Amino acid sequence: MNLLIRNAAAILTGLSGAEARHRGPDIRIRDGRIEAMGTLAPEPGESQLDATDCVVYPAWVNTHHHLFQSLLKGDPLGLNATLSPWLAATPWRLRPHLDEGMFRTAARIGLVELALSGCGTVADHNYHYWPHMPFDSSAVLFEEAQALGLRFVLCRGGGTLSRMASADLPPPLRPETLDGYLADIERLAARFHDRAPDAMQRVVVAPTTPPHSMRPDELRETAALARQLGLRMHSHLSETVAYHDAVHGQHRRKPVHFCQDVGWVGNDVWFAHLVKLDDDEIALLGATGTGIAHCPQSNGRLGSGIAPVRALEAAGVPVSIGVDGAASNEAADMLSETHAAWLMQRARAGEAAVAVHRGGQGEAEAAAAATVEDVVRWGTAGGARVLGLPAIGTLASGQAADLAVYRLDDDPRYFGLHDPAIGPVASGGRATLEALLVGGREVVRRGRLPGVDVPALGRQARQAVQQLLAAAA
Ligand code: ZN
Repeated sequence: MNLLIRNAAAILTGLSGAEARHRGPDIRIRDGRIEAMGTLAPEPGESQLDATDCVVYPAWVNTHHHLFQSLLKGDPLGLNATLSPWLAATPWRLRPHLDEGMFRTAARIGLVELALSGCGTVADHNYHYWPHMPFDSSAVLFEEAQALGLRFVLCRGGGTLSRMASADLPPPLRPETLDGYLADIERLAARFHDRAPDAMQRVVVAPTTPPHSMRPDELRETAALARQLGLRMHSHLSETVAYHDAVHGQHRRKPVHFCQDVGWVGNDVWFAHLVKLDDDEIALLGATGTGIAHCPQSNGRLGSGIAPVRALEAAGVPVSIGVDGAASNEAADMLSETHAAWLMQRARAGEAAVAVHRGGQGEAEAAAAATVEDVVRWGTAGGARVLGLPAIGTLASGQAADLAVYRLDDDPRYFGLHDPAIGPVASGGRATLEALLVGGREVVRRGRLPGVDVPALGRQARQAVQQLLAAAA
């Protein structure tokens, strides 16, 4: 589609410094790419999108999620729990009862929710795998993302160890063999992995959580296969202080040092959370170029803490944003996530401030806390960087036409703004999505996805939750 987006009130590019804003106001799209930005005259035969009173961002890149949890939101047994009791109360209790239909419904809900927030690329950390499972959960995820027109990165979770000490675990909670895990990685890479800088489909090696999912020698072997196949690596790390206790108890190491021992750091690796880190761990992550998927809403909801994102970035860590959940977030949208990231990073800096008369620096650190432009960059260009998709995540000539156009003229929340560019993130809420384009293709128009009946999806979800609870009872 050849398209001219005209007269945008503001454009954030995902780039840093003076390049974070483009004066615009027009963007020309040809054959799925941004051909030009500036003051542009319409050409014959070109479609036009009037972006008056709208702001344009790069489409968001979500770098950590568990789509299957979209049917596990708000479970009262886990709602006010911290990480470990929540894992037992909600995902471990309910996941064994998810069949293929429920899994597909959950994936669709999460992807639709993300798309309606302006997200064009989803990296999902799926760990719904077990030996001889009756359906291919990886294929279901790729199919659902493709049907909506979203870029999809499958982070293939699972592992050879179970954290539950029971001889007769239900089959869906049983660990895999290392050979089985590695064979499936090779199968998925051959079938779905595209190396292109704007790939629609990618595969990532992602045992669910390094010290709990595999033995050290198995982690080494898994990393070696990933690098041999040219696949990136992802997992959870250092979400809580309990995580530090567990790794210390098993290995007498800090979590980041444990990962270094087994070959799990580098610029082809990114970890979700990284909430609890010592200074030497931050330095090591930075020196190796290991990335983060910062998940502020899940970390807040589970009472885990607030990741030291500014310190990580200063050390050289590539920063991205993930919605995590949905069962530890109760939502999955990149606008509320980036709004939370902005507020929580500023709150963290203020929380650490010490009065000058007590030997501190007063408000100095808080004054340098994250800006809206930082958070937009993390959620777009930062995501593209950790996923290794350099043709997306920024708005510039030659880049893939992945962009979100938000209306600011139909909700009083956005009225009175001196700077419309920051509106969707700074004011929070969910600005009406005038359009979401992925590779120049329209995924959302005026807040609707063609072919998706949202109320019907809601009815399907309620039915699936009833079925799930009946099966778990
Ligand atoms: Zn997670």
